[in-house]
Parts: sequence; structure tokens; C-alpha cells
Amino acid sequence: MTKPVRVRFAPSPTGHLHLGNARTALFNWLFARHEEGTFILRVEDTDTARSTDESERMILDDLKWLGLDWDEGPGVGGEFGPYRQSERAGIYQEHAERLLAEGSAFTCYCSDERLEENRKRARDEGTVPQYDGTCRDMPDSERRARELDGVKPTIRLRAPDADIVVEDMIRGRVEFGKEMLGDFIILRSDGRPTYNFAVVVDDALMGITHVIRAEDHLPNTMRQQLLYSRLGYESPLFAHVSLIVAQDRSKLSKRRGATSLQELRREGFLPGAVTNYLALLGWSHPEAKEILSREELVAAFDLKRVSASAAAFDDNKLEWVNGHHLRESPLSVVVAAAKPFVASAGLDPDDARFPAMVDLVREGLDRLSNLPGEIAPFYDREFDLEPEANEWITLHESRQLFAGLADSFAAVQGKLDAAEFKSVLKSQGNALSLKGKALFMPARVALTGRTHGPALGNVAELLGRERVISRCRAAAGDAGKQ
Ligand code: GLU
Repeated sequence: MTKPVRVRFAPSPTGHLHLGNARTALFNWLFARHEEGTFILRVEDTDTARSTDESERMILDDLKWLGLDWDEGPGVGGEFGPYRQSERAGIYQEHAERLLAEGSAFTCYCSDERLEENRKRARDEGTVPQYDGTCRDMPDSERRARELDGVKPTIRLRAPDADIVVEDMIRGRVEFGKEMLGDFIILRSDGRPTYNFAVVVDDALMGITHVIRAEDHLPNTMRQQLLYSRLGYESPLFAHVSLIVAQDRSKLSKRRGATSLQELRREGFLPGAVTNYLALLGWSHPEAKEILSREELVAAFDLKRVSASAAAFDDNKLEWVNGHHLRESPLSVVVAAAKPFVASAGLDPDDARFPAMVDLVREGLDRLSNLPGEIAPFYDREFDLEPEANEWITLHESRQLFAGLADSFAAVQGKLDAAEFKSVLKSQGNALSLKGKALFMPARVALTGRTHGPALGNVAELLGRERVISRCRAAAGDAGKQ
């Protein structure tokens, strides 16, 4: 029997959740759910200078928004906690002491200045900066003397004189020459672990079976692999996912568009669309389906279908995916997601007609941030005419049309529906010999101020009889002023 899958997402709380990290979290979550395994969230906050509670809160909030629920981690607990590295200092200390006692590691008393000089020299000589081994074989008596002098040492792992091979599920066999390794620090002089050390201790103790993360961690994996063997822990399987790049294959950057999940949220992408699109950045469905619900993603996700080549972020495709989700998700989901956008634009999302408005305009929508503009004509507020709209409304025949429409609608009581609107418009058109664009355009402009929009009968129905009458009368008056 194979071991039940346990995977983790391990963000460093030093900023927002970037798209690359969101994709890493998603792949881990999809893999865990597909395999009916466990998805763990671990906060890697050992970089005390850069980690903030605020950033942790934002990252957790983004993950919740994406719907990536964790089975163990902050706020949930679990039997392998604590799940914040800052709360695990004693565990790292014990492991480092064990390596020291076993001779796998040594204490290093070199000053930062000396190490910096070494690095500079290596750079000047064009070689890979590597620890020069000063404290590697220092006699114990000398170590004691340094400590009596009050020097707080770092702890370094003794690197082997051998190349290292990493077997990666996505990239195959990756070899690292021994010259890339060097005696690296595992515990800083203030007792804090380095990333590579903490991650191995945690992944081992938390029983992680698969490490799925971005390709830029491959050189770290070389060091981590060594640490597993020195600590006597079984190494997990590694799957390094290619990076996300911009359309021109350069690094994703602010200048080229969204780089964080926060930005996508603000621009009005649905969480289901974002998970759908992020999944396609590096993974593909066996039947090349591109619009996929969360359940379909979970059912189809497979690390074997994750590509080794870089995935290009494409805003247009993200919009296209979002458009599908806006049209195909249950209306209640879209309405709930749309409310904050509408409220911040000063429109009332509690208007009883709001769900119907969303339903009417979602056909042509690709971002919720465009929604307030689309539904503004349904609200009782002054609207400016588009320049093109103005041309239609000032035509001479339009005045008669608007007046005729207003009178006809006023002659009937009760709810105005799309069918009544269409038949009245048609008969007014016949009477004035107006048809096609010459009939519909002025009517649309009178009702909405726009030359484009959803089916006019539906627009009229949603506006209701009173608004339709008053807008036709207002337009008749305006047109009459010409
Ligand atoms: N804290 C690391 C990061 O955010 C985690 C890398 C890993 O998954 O091991 O890059």
C-alpha cells in the first residue's frame, strides 16, 4: 500500500500572495484533494525582519477566497504542529545539535566581514562563492576559546565531496556538481534556522510525501536532499513546477499587469475562474478542456500532466475564462461576488432588481469591475449621453417616437414586460416608418443613454413602466429643444 498523500503549502509572510505562489498552493491542494490526502499550511516566518502578521493574515485570506481549505495549519491545528516556524525554534535547535554531535555539522566563528571578503574575492575571480573551510577542522580547544571570548557561532553542514542528484517528478534527473554546494549554514548565530534547514526538519516531521513547488527552489532541493540523508529521514518526492512568465517570456512584473491575487480580486475575477485559469498555467486537461469547475479540476488533476516548460500569463485568456464563469456560475454566486463592486461605485446592491440586472448584463461581462458601468442605467440617476448616443436622440423623428412611446405606455396599467415593450415599439415604428437601427437606436439611447447593451425589451422590463415613461418623456423634451 502506498502512503497516504500529505502535501503542504509553505508561504513566507513577507507580502501579498503572488500569482506563482497561488498556483503552487492550488497544485498542492488539487493533488491532495484528488488523492484524498491531506493539505497542510505552514507559515515560514523565520525571516523575522521581513515577516509580518499582516502579511500572514492577507495570505490566509487570499487562500480562503480561492477556496483552498487546509486540513492542518494555523487556525485549524493538527497533530504535527505548531505550524508556524517561529514557534518551532526548539525543534530546529535539537536537530542542529544532533548533527553537531554526529560530526555532520560544525560551529563556525567567521565574522560577517571575513565571509563578505571571501565572497567578493570569489566574485572577482569569477568563481561560485563558497565557504572557504576556515572553521571546518578547527580543534575543539580553539572552538572553546572562541566561545569563552563570547563569539556566537553559526552552525554549518559539512558538505560531502560528491555530486548530488535530485530525481524530480516533472523534470526527471537533475545533477548538481559538488562545487555548487559548500558547507552551508543551517542555524544562524542567533539560533534561527535557515530556510533549507527548517524546511527539511518540518517536512520530515510533518510526514510530507510530496513537495510541489516552483522550479526556482531546485538548487535548494540539492541542499535539502543532503539534509534528509544526514538527518536519517526519508526524502519526500519532489515536483518542481515551471515558473509563470509574462507573454514576452520575461519575468512577471507589475508593469505588465497583475502579479498578485489581491489585484485579481480587485479587478473582479471570480475565485472559480482564477483557480481554473491558474490550473491551466502548467497543467492541461487530458481532453484539452479549458473551462473547468473546481470539482472537474480535482477529478482530473494529475502531476503527470504538469509541463516542464514555463507557462505564459495571458490577461486575455484569464478574461475569457472569467467571462465563462460569470455566465455559467449560479446567479447567486455572481450576485454575491458583485455586491462590493456595485456598492463601492455608489449604486445600491440591495435594489430588488439587482440579481436580474446582473443576470441581464453578465452575458457580455468579463470582469466584475466593469459591472457598475453596465448596470448604472437601471438606477435613478442622471446619466451622460455617449457622444454617439447624442446623434440618435437629436434626430427629428426621434421626438415623435419618444412622445408616442411615452403615451402608449402610459395608456396601460401594471407591470411592463418585454413583449409589451417590443410590440409597442414596433407599432410606433410602423406609424413613423422607422425600423431597424433607426428605430432601436433612439429607443435604446432614450432608455439607457447608450448605443449598446442587452436586449432592449429586457432592459425596459427591468426599468419598469414608470422609468420607461419618464425617460421617454425626458428624451422627447430634450430632442424637442433641437
Ligand atoms: N517559504 C518558501 C517560499 O515561500 C517555501 C518554499 C517551499 O515550498 O519549500 O518560497
